[in-house]
Amino acid sequence: MAVFTALESEVRSYCRGWPVAFDTAVGSRMTDIDGHSYLDFFAGAGALNYGHNNPALKGALLDYLARDGVVHSLDMHTSAKAEFLKTFDELVLKPRGLNYKVQFPGPTGTNAVESALKLARKVTGKHAMINFTNAFHGMTLGSLSVTGNSMKRGGAGIPLVHATPMPYDNYFDGKVPDFLWFERVLEDAGSSLNEPAAVIVETVQGEGGINPARAEWLRGLADLCHRHEILLIVDDVQMGCGRTGPFFSFELAGIQPDIVCISKSISGYGLPMALTLIKPELDVWSPGEHNGTFRGHNPAFVTATAALRTYWADDQLERGTGAKGQRVESALRHLAGTLPGDLEVKGRGLARGLGFAQPAMAEQVASSAFERGLLLETAGPESEVAKIMPALTITDQELTEGLDIFADAVRSVVLGGATA
Ligand code: PMP
Repeated sequence: MAVFTALESEVRSYCRGWPVAFDTAVGSRMTDIDGHSYLDFFAGAGALNYGHNNPALKGALLDYLARDGVVHSLDMHTSAKAEFLKTFDELVLKPRGLNYKVQFPGPTGTNAVESALKLARKVTGKHAMINFTNAFHGMTLGSLSVTGNSMKRGGAGIPLVHATPMPYDNYFDGKVPDFLWFERVLEDAGSSLNEPAAVIVETVQGEGGINPARAEWLRGLADLCHRHEILLIVDDVQMGCGRTGPFFSFELAGIQPDIVCISKSISGYGLPMALTLIKPELDVWSPGEHNGTFRGHNPAFVTATAALRTYWADDQLERGTGAKGQRVESALRHLAGTLPGDLEVKGRGLARGLGFAQPAMAEQVASSAFERGLLLETAGPESEVAKIMPALTITDQELTEGLDIFADAVRSVVLGGATA
């Protein structure tokens, strides 16, 4: 471990909770250099929806590399990009009745968000954004300006401006009518709200604590945006690519956002890739106005195409995610029902969480799970939620094993004894 503490920046984070060096990984298991195996309920923070080194994707990637397929090409036309675009249109957009132009921003989620914010400003000529309490959109300045977490915002080192937070669904525990404040300040000429270019929203807040917005709340938001001529940006970086069941998390609400941000699991293999999906009439970019060296990493196109063909040609994965998600929910409800303290069962699909009234307990659970061979992270403003996000391809047997370990870890923390 000495090399990491000596040479790697203090900014490192996940590795502090899992102080081992990982070496190989297949499906839902990772193995460290000492040969210890860990079940993965973390899935690369949502980048590994199809598991580690998925054989269908690996085969396509190895073939492509073996035939000297182009690896780097900025945004030049390549056969790999053409295949991806055709497949994405055929298997994802067309069957859902969606019509979007595809922008390849830089390869991470925050690049998709930055480009979405920029484009919304260019289209509307307005600068103000609306974001939501506990939102997370990334670490670059534009994305940070619409992110809630005060520690992350503090890292900017300059004032983060041009965004106004509104209460996310259930922020007042259902006691206040949806959008009461938002509608009021939009309509009141004396409210001091700057006219917003766009609203940016996650349908289920991941980093914010696994908070799902209800379908009717999302429909209400889409309707409000429509009435007030505000663009609607859905950040589907973490909850897209099937995490909640359907390919896009907003399908459940039947809405069609103006701009959609996708990243994490779109390459399917953990290779960096991001998309900004834009309604055609909003695609007012000038050539090169938003660019970058790593837009369209061809190996990522190859694995993304293979992932779509393997998992999105029918609804088997989507149905499996629904069923596995139900199993996780039942296990969590059982735990919450049999243990003292206020345990909150949260989530949708295979994005699940258990919230603790004493925030430190969630970290203790993660640490106790690690000792038992299970990887999971925490979420929420005070890291108060133990987050369960396995690969969508996890087997039923692995899911049972992981849930059993999780239950043991929670019991040991809640009933005393375990320390982080
Ligand atoms: N948006 C959401 C909803 C996210 O969860 C994340 C990452 N956790 C991001 C944006 C930023 O993505 P990246 O870390 O790839 O920049």
